Amino acid sequence: MNKALRKAVIAGNWKMNKTPEEAKELIAQIAPLVKDADCSVVTCVPFVDLQAALEATKGTNIGVGAENCHWEKSGAYTGEISADMLAAMGVQYVIIGHSERRTYFGETDVTVNKRVRAALDAGLTVILCVGEYLEQREQGITAELVAMQTKIALQGVSKEELARIIIAYEPVWAIGTGKTATADQANEVCAVIREVIAGLYGRDAGDGITIQYGGSMNAKNAAELLDKPDVDGGLIGGASLKAPDFAAIVEAASR
Ligand code: PEP
Repeated sequence: MNKALRKAVIAGNWKMNKTPEEAKELIAQIAPLVKDADCSVVTCVPFVDLQAALEATKGTNIGVGAENCHWEKSGAYTGEISADMLAAMGVQYVIIGHSERRTYFGETDVTVNKRVRAALDAGLTVILCVGEYLEQREQGITAELVAMQTKIALQGVSKEELARIIIAYEPVWAIGTGKTATADQANEVCAVIREVIAGLYGRDAGDGITIQYGGSMNAKNAAELLDKPDVDGGLIGGASLKAPDFAAIVEAASR
């Protein structure tokens, strides 16, 4: 399928940054800069900023996402937030399996799968993160590893539900480090993921799924990365906190 027929998605991942008041300010700066975007624009924000972000994005083309969710609907899980709670607020997207959750908070492929299932059941669209550590790349197991992460995360997900899955290929060594994968490296792994989806769900599903690259994408390198045939957008950390930089990436994806 021609890449132009797939939906490009540029999503910001604010991580643990911004108070609700600061969130409103940043969205007010971003909104006019991205209003003519020819791609989907999403900001994923800390839980405490969701209400402010939902209000600030009303009447704009910016979708709002959370950065994680729990797999149970409710119960004795102190400090957790369920997918149903997010959906009830009007949140549309949720990042699941970010490498920072996997590295610092004990997230595993199995818990990623549970969270994906819960998010889909709640009606959310999932931004599913997969990616290798530098040691794994050096061992030559990137393709196998990313394929395995993808397969486990999507266990029990139907072909119809795939319409609400975006996959973000994020090499861990490139996140927040300023070391971007080359456009060819990014494209190669995005293509591997596309083949995994085609193998699981059929060629049309592989061709239709949106696969983002994430890892130090910025205003300068976005165009080259986004130009690649299997890279359909970006998950943006640091650069999503600066309105002009984020807008420049959205602009690059809109070309
Ligand atoms: C991320 O948090 O998903 C990310 C890609 O971060 P950064 O753009 O800062 O590398």
